[in-house]
Amino acid sequence: MRLSCPFCGTRDRREFTYGGAALARPDGAEWGADWDAYLHLRDNPAGVSVEYWVHAMGCGAWLRVTRDTVTHAVQNVVVASGEGAA
Ligand SMILES: [Zn+2]
Repeated sequence: MRLSCPFCGTRDRREFTYGGAALARPDGAEWGADWDAYLHLRDNPAGVSVEYWVHAMGCGAWLRVTRDTVTHAVQNVVVASGEGAA
């Protein structure tokens, strides 16, 4: 699999580190079922998934990657700065 970093260009997947599913953070600071699910429960989708990746062996940018987990076809890569990644 290859990912296209917006700053460095297309690179091998080994330059990147997986940062988890791109989930929406719950509102509020109080602990509840929504925070428990956000922190501990994960889907394991067979198909399109939106994930965070960091270009660890490159520029260090956090990216939001949309890809198919079955075919590894990458559909979209955008900078994730300001999204509260990882
Ligand atoms: Zn990069």
